[in-house]
Amino acid sequence: MVDAQSMMQYMFALRAAGVTDKRILNAMEKVPRHLFVQGHFQPRAYEDTALPIASGQTISQPSVVGKMTKALDVGPRDKVLEIGTGSGYQAAILSHLARRVYTIERHRGLARGAQRVLDELRLANVIVMTGDGSLGLRDQAPFDRILLTAAAEDPPANLLAQLRVGGIMVLPVGQTDAVQHLIKVEKLENGFEYTELEAVRFVPLVEGISPDP
Ligand code: SAH
Repeated sequence: MVDAQSMMQYMFALRAAGVTDKRILNAMEKVPRHLFVQGHFQPRAYEDTALPIASGQTISQPSVVGKMTKALDVGPRDKVLEIGTGSGYQAAILSHLARRVYTIERHRGLARGAQRVLDELRLANVIVMTGDGSLGLRDQAPFDRILLTAAAEDPPANLLAQLRVGGIMVLPVGQTDAVQHLIKVEKLENGFEYTELEAVRFVPLVEGISPDP
């Protein structure tokens, strides 16, 4: 359980960091982040910081989750694709805001772990899959919204193709060890409109499914 004071401080820190959208704050208040981190990192789950998870990956910083979710502008009827399930925390936030969330992870162990927590929280509108997210999910396309939580050098062409006209994709772009920027891509009838948001730091988007069990 989360004590009321930690939750209040968490909400305060999120607002101070620029997460002010009520629907997003409500969703973040509902999702117990400590269930998405392991062991000795659990006591730090309500700090506004990224933390290590299994397979050498990270659960994103909560205020960055909030800001990415805001940029994605998700509506209750939206079908959303997330690339990079990781712990499943971002997917859990999206599940409270969207109609359905498909999330793809290249590490089987992470996908399994995320599924377990999402099941425990009875977030039944999230579907977790193991796969190479850079290919997208052709069967379910087009998507209203696409969110990448791993950094690409450029917006992957497959994902741009699987976004509906009028849809929005948010992703970090840039090299792993350099400054990355969050960008928002809107698909128009006759092309794409790009908006650069803030500087961020994410693990890289890696092609192919990890061979680890
Ligand atoms: N959204 C996550 C943060 C994940 S970190 C959370 O809320 O916890 C980024 C994740 O992207 C890592 O778990 C990494 O394994 C995954 N990833 C990287 N490249 C990928 C790819 N091509 N397809 C699917 N997942 C990928």
